[in-house]
Amino acid sequence: MRVAVVGAGIVGACTAWSLVRRGAHVTLFERKQPMAETSRASSKLLHGGLRYLEGGHLGLVRKSLRARAVWLEQAPHLCEPLQLLLPVYADVGRSRCTVGLGIILYNLLARDDCLPRGRWLSAAKVATLRPELRRTSLEGAYAFYDARMDDEALGNYVVEQFCAAGGRLECDREVVDINELSDFERVVNATGPWALDLRRSQPGQPSHTLDWVRGSHIVIDRHCSAALLLQVPGEKRIFFVLPKGTRTLIGTTEVRQPGPDNPGPSEDEIGYLLNAHNHYLTPIAPRSDVAEAFSGVRPLLRSADNPSAATREWAFERVGKVLHIYGGKWTTAQLQGEEAATRILQ
Ligand SMILES: Cc1cc2nc3c(=O)[nH]c(=O)nc-3n(C[C@H](O)[C@H](O)[C@H](O)COP(=O)(O)OP(=O)(O)OC[C@H]3O[C@@H](n4cnc5c(N)ncnc54)[C@H](O)[C@@H]3O)c2cc1C
Repeated sequence: MRVAVVGAGIVGACTAWSLVRRGAHVTLFERKQPMAETSRASSKLLHGGLRYLEGGHLGLVRKSLRARAVWLEQAPHLCEPLQLLLPVYADVGRSRCTVGLGIILYNLLARDDCLPRGRWLSAAKVATLRPELRRTSLEGAYAFYDARMDDEALGNYVVEQFCAAGGRLECDREVVDINELSDFERVVNATGPWALDLRRSQPGQPSHTLDWVRGSHIVIDRHCSAALLLQVPGEKRIFFVLPKGTRTLIGTTEVRQPGPDNPGPSEDEIGYLLNAHNHYLTPIAPRSDVAEAFSGVRPLLRSADNPSAATREWAFERVGKVLHIYGGKWTTAQLQGEEAATRILQ
């Protein structure tokens, strides 16, 4: 079967790879270069998503933890386990009991993989691992494991596997209208944030609406000795402080926007991330310490008023010979791609 996949982000790349492994003749169309958009602007975590437990998304967390294990086994040269500390303060954030319950559940859901289980560390131990962390009211921290990756390199690895298995990649090729692909027996629309644009070239209303939620990161020129998951002061949201080579990556924001195009990080978002960082870590990082800032637009399924609570699940819509893909996250893209391949070949 001749199949066209449009969009070489991680979801399109995984779908194309899965299809070619099943014997389809696949061309992957990308209007820029692979991983040019959201898929290279992530927090670089292959994670179950501890915070999704609070919303009751146990099925998604379980799937994501399994997907994390697959990446670690498949591409150990491009991803590795990462210990994160989740500090507990008496004066801000969730209580030790709440976080502890989450960690127990996370341990249970990850029971089949080989990463160390989450555990409690005393405030003194935390201070040795992260001396720059504010100690006033610090009760201790939970240490737990996820994985980190180079999103661009790991995504390009998937594209290389696809090409090595006989797939064809066409870069700098925008598909403006599905009808341009009439030579193909099946088409997959994997254009992430732009999925509804391509859907418009077919009749009827789309079955799903997207929520475009921009997320920004900043990089400061400072060594990060231990990864942290912290609660934004005055909010329920969490943010990450992560090692990025010899520097520190801080993210992310969640800014709902009216469309898919990425305007880049705003000064407000940069200030927000710096303030959150400076609440917990010394010395204070001034604006001039920001060496880099970048953003990406999450193609989320519209499911909640608060974008933080929006599901990271995905959905499909079949219209004639075309399968449209909506939503998802990086970690679970292989599962999403396998499911898309099964559906389009039916
Ligand atoms: C700030 C932020 C942090 C995140 N952190 C994480 C994380 O740590 N872990 C995690 O699991 N997930 C994370 N995510 C989610 C994850 O990054 C996204 O779910 C995923 O990258 C979306 O991939 P995609 O392939 O759907 O979209 P994209 O990567 O945007 O790919 C779509 C591709 O389609 C192409 N395209 C669009 N229109 C056309 C057209 N008409 N013709 C041809 N090509 C076209 C685009 O150029 C693009 O390359 C994060 C997201 C954001 C924004």
